[in-house]
Amino acid sequence: MPVSIDNVQMLRRRTRTSLRLIADALGSFEADPAVSRLAAAFGGDPTHITDRRIGEPGYRSRHLHFSSGGEIVTHDEAVVSVTLHVAPTPTAPQGVTLNHWFANVDNDATLDDLAAALKTTPKYTGEGSRQFTLEGLDVWSIFTESRLEERGNLLRLLFRTARQELEHSDTHEQCPTCSNLLVRRGGEGSGVAVDDTVAALSHALEHGLVTEDESSVALSDLLPLHTSGLMDAAETRLTCTACGRVLCLTTFRNADPTFEYVTWGAASTRPLDEIPPVEQWGDAARIAAESGRMHLVDHLPGGWFLVEQRGELFLDARYSCGPTDFSALIRLDDSEREAYRAEGADYISDLARRIDNSGPFQKESPYFSRDLYRTSKRDRYKNEVNRAVSHVTWMAQQRRRRR
Ligand SMILES: [Zn+2]
Repeated sequence: MPVSIDNVQMLRRRTRTSLRLIADALGSFEADPAVSRLAAAFGGDPTHITDRRIGEPGYRSRHLHFSSGGEIVTHDEAVVSVTLHVAPTPTAPQGVTLNHWFANVDNDATLDDLAAALKTTPKYTGEGSRQFTLEGLDVWSIFTESRLEERGNLLRLLFRTARQELEHSDTHEQCPTCSNLLVRRGGEGSGVAVDDTVAALSHALEHGLVTEDESSVALSDLLPLHTSGLMDAAETRLTCTACGRVLCLTTFRNADPTFEYVTWGAASTRPLDEIPPVEQWGDAARIAAESGRMHLVDHLPGGWFLVEQRGELFLDARYSCGPTDFSALIRLDDSEREAYRAEGADYISDLARRIDNSGPFQKESPYFSRDLYRTSKRDRYKNEVNRAVSHVTWMAQQRRRRR
């Protein structure tokens, strides 16, 4: 049946009305009429509400679930996201009927169907997730992983205003791996029980449930550093391997400790105070452990790392071999060390270039036999260098992941 002009306009109006209803609710307070109007469109009163404090002192998070498949999330009363659940949930066994909200979008829509109906091109935001921008709203379409072009795999549409953070962590608030790692002194809002929280995090770290961000204070160093009183703020950051949230436990010299769940994007822009030399706060064992470690001295992004260990300097220089990049680890000899002292980073860049040009993967290269990554201690060197440069590479990795 041919679609009449009137019909097309009516369909467009339906989509526009839905977007307006959601946009008006986002950023409004729970008691505002805009939220009541959206709730009415979701069928009236929510059938299930979860209400919990995230972090300490943190914020109050409420999830209002409607039997129609709608969900409204508020943080400290303000609406931060709206979700249309297509896949059944415990509170909405049917899921939403998407074409009541968006003209020409059915519940079994593929990514291409969505793009065609919404007349816009989505951005990659992760496996199974793509983001559309519609009239000032960011809309995430979430599919069963890597099945975006097969019918029946659309799980939900999630809406935020464009000024809200890309990956706000509310979708992971109930992550079973990391949600219970914060130990409070009493009820919600009573403050962080630091010793118990450190114990819970250590247990999770030992079992590989979280990983440590090497640029922050090591978890095992947090209490000695706090006790030393040398840092205004000492922060340990751990990343949950299940949901990707970064858990920040922070002690302050003059204030109560805090525990926050943030996205990696937010974590990477938070400042970290410099950690004072271990001799000033560590016990004998900790000082001994530090003295044997490699330390990053300097680096050129994408080019080389210069590390130091027990007075020796080592250069990790990237070189190309066919389409792939590898790196060589060279212990600087006396004359090279002298040249570095005189000329600084320029000399190291020049040396790295000479290493690359010599083709250090061939026996003819003077660097072939000097490459410590070609020795039986290769793995040990790799691990030590990786640890020494990890905060630099961590940042680069986060930036890549964001793209
Ligand atoms: Zn988690």
